[in-house]
Amino acid sequence: MKQFNPEDFLILVVDDINQNLQVIGEILEKIGYDTTFATSGEQALERVQAAQPDLILLDLMMPGINGLEVCQQLKNNPKFEEVPIIFLTASNEKEHLLAAFDKGAVDYVTKPFNAPELLARVRTHLELKKTREELKAALYEQSRLIEKLEKLATTDPLTGIWNRRYLLSKAEYELDRAIRYQSPFSVLTIDLDKFKQINDLYGHALGDEVLIDVTKNILKLLRKVDCFGRMGGEEFAILLPETDILLAVNVAERIRQQIANLVFNTGDAVLQITACIGVSNYILGNKHETVDAILQRADKALYQAKKQGRDRVIAYESEPH
Ligand code: GH3
Ligand code: MG
Ligand code: MG
Repeated sequence: MKQFNPEDFLILVVDDINQNLQVIGEILEKIGYDTTFATSGEQALERVQAAQPDLILLDLMMPGINGLEVCQQLKNNPKFEEVPIIFLTASNEKEHLLAAFDKGAVDYVTKPFNAPELLARVRTHLELKKTREELKAALYEQSRLIEKLEKLATTDPLTGIWNRRYLLSKAEYELDRAIRYQSPFSVLTIDLDKFKQINDLYGHALGDEVLIDVTKNILKLLRKVDCFGRMGGEEFAILLPETDILLAVNVAERIRQQIANLVFNTGDAVLQITACIGVSNYILGNKHETVDAILQRADKALYQAKKQGRDRVIAYESEPH
């Protein structure tokens, strides 16, 4: 915790007797606290709104709205519920203290005031409040850091889509589900054609731009439940839950066309690109299916697509054995 400086704190003192305000005001101001005053419950509620004190010294017995009611109203207001309230009581009012603590008071001091005791209690509760606030801020900061780390660990920095690690773990989850419910599940692997040439001819920066644009355009064609990831370089994979191989081929074909229709301006030429897509699926009934095996089948189909001249979709099932 940073050093404790009375100058950093504003204390509201509430008492219907002016002389009490004067005495307490002097005790507090002498060591540097900032102070503000109210002489009734109504005024106290107004001052809290206007001045936003860090702590309130509150007279228990006042005509009109008394201290207990002020306390209750403040504790019911989310904006002020954290402001510590210390009650000022005459020694013959002790029977009301239970009610005061019940309403959310943190402490009390009895009249006539003993300066060291009053200051010690004020300081304790200001420090507690400050520590609570610092802890809250630190926890908030920590949760933001965790969010950032999670994002870094699961997404691809260039394109913003999932990374390989996340996609593979999601694939395990989806395959488990497919096996358990015997539901269809398909996978696409995508590899851009002759991508090295694009880098060589137009530079790495344009290559990056192509990767970003291709992912954006593929995302447009996917459902929320689909999982799209960059497996590395110019290779991508898409998990399609609840999708059989015929439907998956349709999706792949739309993606292929979308990529082929993209046009990039290189400055002096117009560039178009193509991609090959391999399609495979979980074969219903196979209880020993693995993510690796499904991805390998998609990659085999993709390799066939490259061999047959690129810019095409091939499903593993339709491959002649
Ligand atoms: P094929 O049609 O057989 O797939 O040929 P290809 O050139 O696409 O395949 P190859 O695997 O030979 O080359 C992939 C290229 O992708 C090589 C590398 O320079 C490029 N590449 C990989 N990652 C990135 C990247 O993040 N940004 C850019 N601009 N290029 C990348
Ligand atoms: Mg490749
Ligand atoms: Mg390639």
